[in-house]
Amino acid sequence: MKKKIIPIAVIAVALIVALLLFDKFIINTAENSFFAMNTVCSSKISGKESDLVSKEIQAAVEKLDTDVLSRKNEKSSVSRLNRNMGGEIDEKFSEYFSVLLDVCEKSGGKFDFTLGAVSDLWDFGGSPSVPDEKTLSDALSHTGGEKLVLSGNSVDFEDNFTVDFGAAGKGIALDEIKDFLETTKTKEAVISVGGSILLYGEKNFTVGIKDPEGNAGRHVAVLNVGESCVSTSGSYERFFEENGKRYHHILDPDSGYPAQSGVVSVTVVSESGILSDALSTACFVLGIEKGGALAAEYSCETVFIDENKKLYVSEGLKDKIEISDTSYSLAEQ
Ligand code: AMP
Ligand code: MG
Repeated sequence: MKKKIIPIAVIAVALIVALLLFDKFIINTAENSFFAMNTVCSSKISGKESDLVSKEIQAAVEKLDTDVLSRKNEKSSVSRLNRNMGGEIDEKFSEYFSVLLDVCEKSGGKFDFTLGAVSDLWDFGGSPSVPDEKTLSDALSHTGGEKLVLSGNSVDFEDNFTVDFGAAGKGIALDEIKDFLETTKTKEAVISVGGSILLYGEKNFTVGIKDPEGNAGRHVAVLNVGESCVSTSGSYERFFEENGKRYHHILDPDSGYPAQSGVVSVTVVSESGILSDALSTACFVLGIEKGGALAAEYSCETVFIDENKKLYVSEGLKDKIEISDTSYSLAEQ
């Protein structure tokens, strides 16, 4: 009896060791999905120790959200800055502010990360309704990215506004994930944080542009691109109807009302996550001509979809896009 137990135990231990080694040295694929940053996130990772890498990515996104960017968590860096009208920040955070200040300035203020209190009045994530005009204009009078002064590692709010990273946080997460992936043995990865996707690895990826009419899981076009960050902003993401009128979550900082630039979706392809995310929102507000010019200033490529189902594709993506829904077509440019 004893003799039999010993070989079984030895085989079991050998099997466990073999399984552990398999994960450590053999390339395998791990898939994961979770909810963070107020949106659905997913990852598909191929490489060594992909299960571990995938868990670490989830932990990193959750930490970035709760410790740094979340406005819901009182202890986050953004909440602390909003409460104290500024304060000390670390170097990385200071770099993010510097990029966003630049986009704010170059977009003529149409990208504005100080709209938090105005967005709260609309309450798109909760019980949305059209805010009272006076309340809206009062809140709007306290906004403006140019009133945030960044000097080294400290920020100073010159007015009582609420900073909101809703338009760029998903891209920041992608940049941090990319830095982390570079320290691992990952071969290829596709990570999506809401409408922002990181394509990582030396291959050609296909990524779909969502149907702006909001049909879940449907794509109207497919992009064939190499390693990059691809962000899409669309009016279909968050909206409500009141008295027969539709209101979406991307606001024109000049009026405080949803931007009406004639576009329903903008996709930006960039090496940088923060730029792809911030610019997709900025381009949505600016519209095709001005938005396209802004993205070009940052050497980013774009696909705009207008209300008439026409696609405006920047030069660098023209041979990399396939329209898959025949009710959409390329605009004559
Ligand atoms: P995105 O999905 O990346 O386009 O970001 C949309 C989110 O950005 C909104 O839910 C708001 O939190 C915020 N936002 C709305 N309008 C603007 C704007 N004009 N500039 C910057 N952030 C904005
Ligand atoms: Mg964005």
